[in-house]
Amino acid sequence: MADTTKIVLDEAEIPKAWFNLVPHLPNPPAPPLHPATHQPVGPADLAPLFCDEILGQEMATAPEIEIPEPVREIYRLWRPTPLYRARRLEKALDTPAHIYYKYEGVSPAGSHKPNTAVAQAFYNKKAGIRRLTTETGAGQWGSALALAGTFFDLEIKVYMVRVSYDQKPYRRHMMETWGAKVLPSPSPETEIGRRVLAEHPDSPGSLGLAISEAAAEAASRADTKYALGSVLNHVLLHQTVIGLETLKQFSLAGEGPDILIACCGGGSNFGGFAFPFVPRKLAGAPLRIIAAEPSACPTLTKGAYAYDFGDMAELSPLLKMYTLGHDFVPPGIHAGGLRYHGDSPLVSQLVREGIVEAVAYPQRAIFAAALTFAQTEGIIPAPECAHAIKSAIDEGLRCKESGEKKVIAFCLSGHGHFDMTAYDRYLSGDLQDLDYSEEEMSRALARLPQVNV
Ligand SMILES: *Cc1c(COP(=O)(O)O)cnc(C)c1O
Repeated sequence: MADTTKIVLDEAEIPKAWFNLVPHLPNPPAPPLHPATHQPVGPADLAPLFCDEILGQEMATAPEIEIPEPVREIYRLWRPTPLYRARRLEKALDTPAHIYYKYEGVSPAGSHKPNTAVAQAFYNKKAGIRRLTTETGAGQWGSALALAGTFFDLEIKVYMVRVSYDQKPYRRHMMETWGAKVLPSPSPETEIGRRVLAEHPDSPGSLGLAISEAAAEAASRADTKYALGSVLNHVLLHQTVIGLETLKQFSLAGEGPDILIACCGGGSNFGGFAFPFVPRKLAGAPLRIIAAEPSACPTLTKGAYAYDFGDMAELSPLLKMYTLGHDFVPPGIHAGGLRYHGDSPLVSQLVREGIVEAVAYPQRAIFAAALTFAQTEGIIPAPECAHAIKSAIDEGLRCKESGEKKVIAFCLSGHGHFDMTAYDRYLSGDLQDLDYSEEEMSRALARLPQVNV
Protein backbone atom coordinates (compact mmCIF):
# COMPACT_ATOMS: atom_id res chain seq x y z
CA MET A 1 0.00 0.00 0.00
CA ALA A 2 2.97 2.25 -0.70
CA ASP A 3 1.05 5.20 -2.09
CA THR A 4 -2.53 4.51 -1.04
CA THR A 5 -4.43 7.54 0.21
CA LYS A 6 -7.75 5.95 1.10
CA ILE A 7 -8.24 2.46 2.45
CA VAL A 8 -11.75 1.33 1.57
CA LEU A 9 -13.40 -1.93 2.50
CA ASP A 10 -16.03 -3.86 0.60
CA GLU A 11 -19.63 -3.67 1.87
CA ALA A 12 -19.35 -7.31 2.92
CA GLU A 13 -16.76 -6.17 5.48
CA ILE A 14 -19.25 -4.13 7.50
CA PRO A 15 -18.96 -5.75 10.95
CA LYS A 16 -21.54 -8.44 11.76
CA ALA A 17 -21.32 -7.86 15.52
CA TRP A 18 -20.66 -4.88 17.79
CA PHE A 19 -17.75 -5.03 20.24
CA ASN A 20 -18.58 -4.95 23.95
CA LEU A 21 -15.76 -3.57 26.11
CA VAL A 22 -17.30 -4.61 29.44
CA PRO A 23 -15.98 -8.23 29.65
CA HIS A 24 -12.46 -6.98 28.83
CA LEU A 25 -12.27 -4.45 31.67
CA PRO A 26 -9.86 -5.23 34.52
CA ASN A 27 -12.56 -4.14 36.99
CA PRO A 28 -16.35 -4.39 36.63
CA PRO A 29 -18.08 -1.07 35.88
CA ALA A 30 -19.84 0.73 38.75
CA PRO A 31 -23.60 0.21 38.34
CA PRO A 32 -25.98 3.11 37.62
CA LEU A 33 -27.94 4.01 40.76
CA HIS A 34 -31.55 5.02 41.30
CA PRO A 35 -31.67 8.83 41.79
CA ALA A 36 -33.72 8.58 44.99
CA THR A 37 -32.84 5.28 46.66
CA HIS A 38 -29.20 5.08 45.46
CA GLN A 39 -29.75 1.35 44.82
CA PRO A 40 -28.53 -0.12 41.51
CA VAL A 41 -31.20 0.46 38.85
CA GLY A 42 -32.85 -2.52 37.21
CA PRO A 43 -34.47 -2.77 33.77
CA ALA A 44 -37.90 -2.03 35.31
CA ASP A 45 -36.73 1.44 36.42
CA LEU A 46 -35.76 2.38 32.87
CA ALA A 47 -38.55 0.57 30.98
CA PRO A 48 -40.67 3.73 30.55
CA LEU A 49 -37.83 5.25 28.50
CA PHE A 50 -36.09 2.40 26.68
CA CYS A 51 -37.28 -0.81 24.98
CA ASP A 52 -36.14 -4.23 26.28
CA GLU A 53 -33.45 -4.98 23.72
CA ILE A 54 -31.76 -1.64 24.28
CA LEU A 55 -31.89 -2.14 28.05
CA GLY A 56 -30.38 -5.60 27.56
CA GLN A 57 -27.50 -4.02 25.64
CA GLU A 58 -27.04 -1.34 28.29
CA MET A 59 -26.31 -4.09 30.86
CA ALA A 60 -24.71 -6.63 28.47
CA THR A 61 -21.63 -8.61 29.45
CA ALA A 62 -21.30 -10.76 26.31
CA PRO A 63 -18.13 -9.94 24.33
CA GLU A 64 -20.07 -9.20 21.16
CA ILE A 65 -23.62 -8.50 20.08
CA GLU A 66 -24.92 -9.36 16.64
CA ILE A 67 -25.83 -6.45 14.36
CA PRO A 68 -29.32 -7.14 12.94
CA GLU A 69 -29.37 -7.50 9.15
CA PRO A 70 -31.84 -4.58 8.60
CA VAL A 71 -29.37 -2.31 10.45
CA ARG A 72 -26.44 -3.55 8.33
CA GLU A 73 -28.56 -2.95 5.24
CA ILE A 74 -28.91 0.73 6.16
CA TYR A 75 -25.25 0.96 7.21
CA ARG A 76 -24.47 -0.03 3.59
CA LEU A 77 -25.65 3.41 2.46
CA TRP A 78 -22.40 4.92 3.82
CA ARG A 79 -20.39 2.16 5.51
CA PRO A 80 -17.67 1.00 5.55
CA THR A 81 -16.32 4.52 5.92
CA PRO A 82 -12.87 5.30 4.49
CA LEU A 83 -9.62 5.33 6.46
CA TYR A 84 -7.44 8.04 4.95
CA ARG A 85 -3.70 8.39 5.11
CA ALA A 86 -3.20 12.14 5.64
CA ARG A 87 -0.22 12.39 3.31
CA ARG A 88 -0.65 16.08 2.56
CA LEU A 89 -0.94 16.93 6.25
CA GLU A 90 2.17 14.86 7.04
CA LYS A 91 4.05 16.76 4.37
CA ALA A 92 2.89 20.15 5.65
CA LEU A 93 4.04 19.20 9.17
CA ASP A 94 7.26 17.75 7.77
CA THR A 95 6.89 14.84 10.16
CA PRO A 96 8.21 11.29 9.76
CA ALA A 97 5.01 10.10 11.50
CA HIS A 98 2.28 8.40 9.49
CA ILE A 99 -1.09 10.04 10.19
CA TYR A 100 -4.40 8.33 9.42
CA TYR A 101 -8.00 9.43 9.94
CA LYS A 102 -11.24 7.48 9.93
CA TYR A 103 -13.87 9.70 8.31
CA GLU A 104 -17.42 9.42 9.69
CA GLY A 105 -18.66 12.57 7.92
CA VAL A 106 -19.76 10.51 4.89
CA SER A 107 -23.04 9.52 6.57
CA PRO A 108 -26.15 11.34 5.29
CA ALA A 109 -26.35 13.36 8.51
CA GLY A 110 -22.63 14.20 8.31
CA SER A 111 -21.38 12.58 11.52
CA HIS A 112 -20.96 9.25 13.34
CA LYS A 113 -24.30 9.66 15.13
CA PRO A 114 -26.45 7.69 12.64
CA ASN A 115 -24.51 4.51 13.61
CA THR A 116 -26.51 4.37 16.84
CA ALA A 117 -29.62 6.26 15.67
CA VAL A 118 -30.34 3.55 13.09
CA ALA A 119 -29.86 0.76 15.65
CA GLN A 120 -32.06 2.48 18.24
CA ALA A 121 -34.81 3.10 15.68
CA PHE A 122 -34.67 -0.56 14.58
CA TYR A 123 -35.07 -2.00 18.10
CA ASN A 124 -37.88 0.38 18.99
CA LYS A 125 -39.75 -0.38 15.78
CA LYS A 126 -39.36 -4.10 16.45
CA ALA A 127 -40.78 -3.59 19.95
CA GLY A 128 -43.93 -2.01 18.48
CA ILE A 129 -43.04 1.57 19.40
CA ARG A 130 -44.45 4.23 17.06
CA ARG A 131 -42.75 7.39 18.27
CA LEU A 132 -39.34 8.48 19.63
CA THR A 133 -38.54 11.68 21.47
CA THR A 134 -35.15 13.21 21.93
CA GLU A 135 -33.33 16.46 22.61
CA THR A 136 -30.79 18.23 20.47
CA GLY A 137 -28.47 21.16 21.01
CA ALA A 138 -26.89 22.28 17.75
CA GLY A 139 -28.85 19.60 15.91
CA GLN A 140 -26.36 16.86 15.07
CA TRP A 141 -28.06 14.17 17.13
CA GLY A 142 -31.57 15.33 16.22
CA SER A 143 -30.76 15.10 12.52
CA ALA A 144 -29.26 11.61 12.93
CA LEU A 145 -32.41 10.38 14.67
CA ALA A 146 -34.67 12.11 12.12
CA LEU A 147 -32.78 10.23 9.39
CA ALA A 148 -33.21 6.91 11.23
CA GLY A 149 -36.90 7.65 11.79
CA THR A 150 -37.49 8.05 8.11
CA PHE A 151 -35.88 4.64 7.39
CA PHE A 152 -38.02 2.82 9.96
CA ASP A 153 -41.22 4.85 9.61
CA LEU A 154 -41.14 6.15 13.18
CA GLU A 155 -42.46 9.54 14.24
CA ILE A 156 -39.54 11.57 15.65
CA LYS A 157 -40.11 14.49 17.95
CA VAL A 158 -37.08 16.64 18.74
CA TYR A 159 -36.89 19.16 21.58
CA MET A 160 -34.32 21.62 20.30
CA VAL A 161 -32.67 24.05 22.71
CA ARG A 162 -34.41 27.39 22.04
CA VAL A 163 -31.28 29.41 21.32
CA SER A 164 -30.10 26.91 18.65
CA TYR A 165 -33.63 26.64 17.25
CA ASP A 166 -33.50 30.37 16.53
CA GLN A 167 -29.82 30.69 15.60
CA LYS A 168 -29.20 27.48 13.66
CA PRO A 169 -32.16 26.97 11.36
CA TYR A 170 -30.39 24.73 8.82
CA ARG A 171 -30.12 21.65 11.02
CA ARG A 172 -33.79 22.16 11.90
CA HIS A 173 -34.74 22.22 8.22
CA MET A 174 -32.73 19.06 7.73
CA MET A 175 -34.67 17.29 10.49
CA GLU A 176 -37.96 18.52 9.02
CA THR A 177 -36.91 17.36 5.55
CA TRP A 178 -36.54 13.86 6.98
CA GLY A 179 -40.02 14.17 8.46
CA ALA A 180 -39.26 14.93 12.13
CA LYS A 181 -41.25 17.34 14.24
CA VAL A 182 -38.96 19.92 15.86
CA LEU A 183 -40.03 22.27 18.60
CA PRO A 184 -38.11 24.76 20.70
CA SER A 185 -37.39 23.87 24.33
CA PRO A 186 -38.72 25.13 26.73
CA SER A 187 -42.02 24.18 25.09
CA PRO A 188 -45.64 24.45 26.28
CA GLU A 189 -46.05 20.69 25.69
CA THR A 190 -44.59 19.43 28.96
CA GLU A 191 -45.17 20.40 32.55
CA ILE A 192 -41.56 21.38 33.19
CA GLY A 193 -41.50 23.36 29.92
CA ARG A 194 -44.66 25.24 30.91
CA ARG A 195 -43.19 25.95 34.34
CA VAL A 196 -40.00 27.42 32.90
CA LEU A 197 -41.94 29.45 30.32
CA ALA A 198 -44.22 30.89 33.00
CA GLU A 199 -41.19 32.19 34.90
CA HIS A 200 -38.95 33.03 31.96
CA PRO A 201 -40.95 33.53 28.74
CA ASP A 202 -37.68 34.33 26.92
CA SER A 203 -35.66 31.40 28.30
CA PRO A 204 -32.89 30.35 25.85
CA GLY A 205 -33.27 26.76 27.11
CA SER A 206 -30.51 24.27 27.86
CA LEU A 207 -29.61 20.71 26.94
CA GLY A 208 -30.45 19.55 30.46
CA LEU A 209 -33.94 21.03 30.19
CA ALA A 210 -34.53 19.62 26.70
CA ILE A 211 -33.54 16.14 28.00
CA SER A 212 -36.06 16.52 30.80
CA GLU A 213 -38.84 17.48 28.34
CA ALA A 214 -38.10 14.67 25.87
CA ALA A 215 -37.86 12.05 28.64
CA ALA A 216 -41.04 13.31 30.35
CA GLU A 217 -43.03 12.97 27.15
CA ALA A 218 -41.70 9.46 26.47
CA ALA A 219 -42.49 8.34 30.01
CA SER A 220 -46.07 9.60 29.69
CA ARG A 221 -47.04 7.60 26.56
CA ALA A 222 -47.06 3.85 25.95
CA ASP A 223 -46.37 4.23 22.20
CA THR A 224 -43.33 6.48 22.76
CA LYS A 225 -39.75 5.88 23.93
CA TYR A 226 -36.76 8.13 24.39
CA ALA A 227 -33.47 8.03 22.47
CA LEU A 228 -30.09 9.29 23.69
CA GLY A 229 -27.19 10.09 21.36
CA SER A 230 -24.15 9.49 23.58
CA VAL A 231 -22.87 8.62 27.10
CA LEU A 232 -24.74 5.34 27.68
CA ASN A 233 -23.17 1.91 27.14
CA HIS A 234 -25.53 0.85 24.34
CA VAL A 235 -24.72 4.00 22.35
CA LEU A 236 -20.96 3.40 22.58
CA LEU A 237 -21.57 -0.27 21.71
CA HIS A 238 -23.29 0.69 18.43
CA GLN A 239 -20.45 3.06 17.59
CA THR A 240 -17.83 0.28 17.74
CA VAL A 241 -18.44 -0.35 14.02
CA ILE A 242 -16.00 2.57 13.61
CA GLY A 243 -13.10 0.91 15.44
CA LEU A 244 -13.84 -2.59 14.11
CA GLU A 245 -13.58 -1.34 10.53
CA THR A 246 -10.43 0.62 11.42
CA LEU A 247 -8.81 -2.59 12.74
CA LYS A 248 -9.44 -4.31 9.39
CA GLN A 249 -8.24 -1.28 7.44
CA PHE A 250 -4.99 -1.21 9.38
CA SER A 251 -4.40 -4.86 8.59
CA LEU A 252 -4.51 -3.80 4.92
CA ALA A 253 -2.26 -0.80 5.58
CA GLY A 254 0.49 -3.13 6.69
CA GLU A 255 1.10 -1.18 9.90
CA GLY A 256 -0.78 -0.57 13.13
CA PRO A 257 -1.43 2.55 15.20
CA ASP A 258 0.89 3.61 18.03
CA ILE A 259 -1.41 6.48 19.03
CA LEU A 260 -5.22 6.61 18.76
CA ILE A 261 -7.04 9.92 19.20
CA ALA A 262 -10.68 11.03 19.23
CA CYS A 263 -12.58 14.00 20.59
CA CYS A 264 -14.72 13.37 23.62
CA GLY A 265 -18.05 15.00 24.47
CA GLY A 266 -20.24 12.23 25.84
CA GLY A 267 -17.68 9.72 24.61
CA SER A 268 -19.48 7.92 21.78
CA ASN A 269 -17.15 8.54 18.83
CA PHE A 270 -14.16 8.11 21.15
CA GLY A 271 -15.45 4.83 22.56
CA GLY A 272 -16.60 3.59 19.16
CA PHE A 273 -13.20 4.27 17.62
CA ALA A 274 -10.93 3.19 20.48
CA PHE A 275 -12.67 0.38 22.42
CA PRO A 276 -11.92 -2.40 19.89
CA PHE A 277 -8.19 -1.60 20.36
CA VAL A 278 -8.27 -1.66 24.18
CA PRO A 279 -7.71 -5.45 24.54
CA ARG A 280 -4.37 -5.04 22.69
CA LYS A 281 -3.36 -2.31 25.07
CA LEU A 282 -4.39 -4.41 28.09
CA ALA A 283 -2.32 -7.28 26.64
CA GLY A 284 0.74 -5.02 26.77
CA ALA A 285 0.90 -3.40 23.31
CA PRO A 286 2.69 -0.01 23.48
CA LEU A 287 -0.44 1.86 22.37
CA ARG A 288 -1.39 5.33 23.61
CA ILE A 289 -5.09 6.25 23.52
CA ILE A 290 -5.94 9.95 23.83
CA ALA A 291 -9.31 11.65 24.44
CA ALA A 292 -9.35 15.33 23.39
CA GLU A 293 -11.77 17.78 24.99
CA PRO A 294 -12.29 21.57 25.19
CA SER A 295 -10.50 23.39 27.99
CA ALA A 296 -13.76 25.35 28.44
CA CYS A 297 -15.55 22.10 29.42
CA PRO A 298 -12.69 20.01 30.87
CA THR A 299 -14.65 17.02 32.16
CA LEU A 300 -11.90 14.37 31.94
CA THR A 301 -8.95 16.64 32.76
CA LYS A 302 -10.44 18.74 35.60
CA GLY A 303 -13.68 17.05 36.70
CA ALA A 304 -14.37 14.86 39.71
CA TYR A 305 -14.76 11.07 39.35
CA ALA A 306 -18.04 10.58 41.18
CA TYR A 307 -21.67 9.56 40.92
CA ASP A 308 -23.74 12.35 39.35
CA PHE A 309 -27.00 12.95 37.51
CA GLY A 310 -26.97 12.87 33.73
CA ASP A 311 -29.44 15.74 33.51
CA MET A 312 -30.00 19.08 35.13
CA ALA A 313 -33.49 18.26 36.46
CA GLU A 314 -32.01 15.40 38.58
CA LEU A 315 -34.36 12.83 37.05
CA SER A 316 -31.83 10.47 35.47
CA PRO A 317 -30.07 7.58 37.22
CA LEU A 318 -26.76 8.43 38.86
CA LEU A 319 -23.78 7.48 36.73
CA LYS A 320 -20.23 7.03 38.01
CA MET A 321 -18.23 9.29 35.73
CA TYR A 322 -15.98 12.28 35.42
CA THR A 323 -18.25 15.28 35.91
CA LEU A 324 -18.16 19.03 36.32
CA GLY A 325 -21.45 18.89 38.24
CA HIS A 326 -24.88 18.36 36.66
CA ASP A 327 -25.84 22.03 36.92
CA PHE A 328 -22.51 23.36 35.64
CA VAL A 329 -23.13 25.44 32.51
CA PRO A 330 -20.05 25.51 30.28
CA PRO A 331 -19.32 28.66 28.28
CA GLY A 332 -20.80 28.84 24.77
CA ILE A 333 -17.92 27.43 22.72
CA HIS A 334 -18.62 26.48 19.10
CA ALA A 335 -17.95 22.78 19.59
CA GLY A 336 -21.51 22.42 20.92
CA GLY A 337 -21.27 18.61 20.85
CA LEU A 338 -18.55 18.71 23.52
CA ARG A 339 -20.45 20.93 25.98
CA TYR A 340 -21.69 18.20 28.32
CA HIS A 341 -20.99 18.23 32.07
CA GLY A 342 -20.34 14.48 32.30
CA ASP A 343 -18.89 11.67 30.24
CA SER A 344 -19.50 8.06 29.38
CA PRO A 345 -18.98 5.87 32.49
CA LEU A 346 -16.92 3.39 30.42
CA VAL A 347 -14.63 6.09 29.03
CA SER A 348 -14.35 7.64 32.51
CA GLN A 349 -13.29 4.31 33.98
CA LEU A 350 -10.56 3.87 31.34
CA VAL A 351 -9.21 7.34 32.15
CA ARG A 352 -9.43 6.64 35.87
CA GLU A 353 -7.48 3.39 35.47
CA GLY A 354 -4.77 5.04 33.36
CA ILE A 355 -5.63 3.13 30.16
CA VAL A 356 -6.67 6.32 28.37
CA GLU A 357 -5.02 9.79 28.53
CA ALA A 358 -6.99 13.02 28.29
CA VAL A 359 -5.93 16.41 26.89
CA ALA A 360 -7.80 19.74 26.70
CA TYR A 361 -7.49 22.60 24.20
CA PRO A 362 -8.84 26.17 23.92
CA GLN A 363 -11.00 26.96 20.91
CA ARG A 364 -8.66 29.21 18.96
CA ALA A 365 -6.01 26.49 18.91
CA ILE A 366 -8.50 23.94 17.61
CA PHE A 367 -9.70 26.27 14.86
CA ALA A 368 -6.07 26.85 13.81
CA ALA A 369 -5.68 23.06 13.58
CA ALA A 370 -8.96 22.81 11.64
CA LEU A 371 -7.66 25.31 9.08
CA THR A 372 -4.37 23.46 8.68
CA PHE A 373 -6.39 20.29 8.08
CA ALA A 374 -8.86 21.90 5.66
CA GLN A 375 -6.02 23.49 3.68
CA THR A 376 -4.08 20.23 3.35
CA GLU A 377 -6.62 17.39 3.32
CA GLY A 378 -9.53 19.45 1.97
CA ILE A 379 -12.26 18.36 4.39
CA ILE A 380 -13.70 21.12 6.58
CA PRO A 381 -14.01 19.40 9.97
CA ALA A 382 -16.68 19.85 12.62
CA PRO A 383 -15.27 21.98 15.48
CA GLU A 384 -15.73 18.95 17.76
CA CYS A 385 -13.29 16.76 15.86
CA ALA A 386 -10.89 19.66 15.38
CA HIS A 387 -9.89 18.78 18.98
CA ALA A 388 -8.68 15.38 17.74
CA ILE A 389 -6.92 17.03 14.79
CA LYS A 390 -5.11 19.39 17.15
CA SER A 391 -3.88 16.48 19.24
CA ALA A 392 -2.79 14.53 16.13
CA ILE A 393 -0.87 17.56 14.83
CA ASP A 394 0.84 18.01 18.21
CA GLU A 395 1.86 14.34 18.26
CA GLY A 396 3.05 14.60 14.65
CA LEU A 397 5.21 17.60 15.52
CA ARG A 398 6.60 15.75 18.53
CA CYS A 399 7.68 12.97 16.16
CA LYS A 400 9.33 15.58 13.96
CA GLU A 401 11.44 16.66 16.93
CA SER A 402 12.31 13.16 18.08
CA GLY A 403 12.63 11.69 14.59
CA GLU A 404 10.24 8.88 15.55
CA LYS A 405 8.15 7.30 12.79
CA LYS A 406 5.03 6.70 14.85
CA VAL A 407 1.67 5.76 13.39
CA ILE A 408 -1.02 8.18 14.55
CA ALA A 409 -4.73 7.57 13.87
CA PHE A 410 -7.66 9.79 14.74
CA CYS A 411 -11.40 9.75 14.29
CA LEU A 412 -12.75 12.55 12.11
CA SER A 413 -16.26 12.34 13.54
CA GLY A 414 -18.02 14.73 11.15
CA HIS A 415 -17.85 17.58 8.68
CA GLY A 416 -18.32 21.22 9.61
CA HIS A 417 -20.64 22.36 6.84
CA PHE A 418 -23.19 23.67 9.32
CA ASP A 419 -20.55 25.39 11.43
CA MET A 420 -19.49 28.07 8.99
CA THR A 421 -20.59 30.88 11.31
CA ALA A 422 -17.94 29.67 13.77
CA TYR A 423 -15.33 29.52 11.01
CA ASP A 424 -16.33 33.03 9.95
CA ARG A 425 -15.81 34.30 13.48
CA TYR A 426 -12.42 32.63 13.68
CA LEU A 427 -11.35 33.97 10.29
CA SER A 428 -12.44 37.51 11.12
CA GLY A 429 -10.43 37.42 14.36
CA ASP A 430 -13.59 37.62 16.40
CA LEU A 431 -13.33 34.32 18.25
CA GLN A 432 -12.25 34.33 21.88
CA ASP A 433 -10.81 31.58 24.06
CA LEU A 434 -13.51 31.09 26.65
CA ASP A 435 -12.57 29.97 30.11
CA TYR A 436 -14.86 28.17 32.51
CA SER A 437 -15.28 29.67 35.95
CA GLU A 438 -13.36 27.72 38.63
CA GLU A 439 -15.71 29.11 41.20
CA GLU A 440 -18.84 27.95 39.39
CA MET A 441 -17.30 24.55 38.91
CA SER A 442 -16.47 24.19 42.62
CA ARG A 443 -20.01 25.25 43.46
CA ALA A 444 -21.46 22.71 41.01
CA LEU A 445 -19.17 19.98 42.41
CA ALA A 446 -20.33 20.79 45.92
CA ARG A 447 -23.85 19.91 44.75
CA LEU A 448 -22.97 16.36 43.64
CA PRO A 449 -25.32 13.82 45.15
CA GLN A 450 -23.95 12.24 48.34
CA VAL A 451 -23.62 8.54 47.62
CA ASN A 452 -22.29 6.10 50.19
CA VAL A 453 -20.84 3.33 48.11
C1 LIG B 1 -22.01 14.96 18.73
C2 LIG B 1 -20.68 15.00 18.13
C3 LIG B 1 -19.51 14.78 18.90
C4 LIG B 1 -19.51 14.58 20.38
O1 LIG B 1 -20.19 13.47 20.83
P1 LIG B 1 -19.47 12.14 21.34
O2 LIG B 1 -20.58 11.34 21.89
O3 LIG B 1 -18.45 12.51 22.35
O4 LIG B 1 -18.88 11.50 20.13
C5 LIG B 1 -18.29 14.79 18.25
N1 LIG B 1 -18.19 15.01 16.93
C6 LIG B 1 -19.28 15.24 16.16
C7 LIG B 1 -19.11 15.51 14.72
C8 LIG B 1 -20.56 15.22 16.73
O5 LIG B 1 -21.64 15.42 15.97
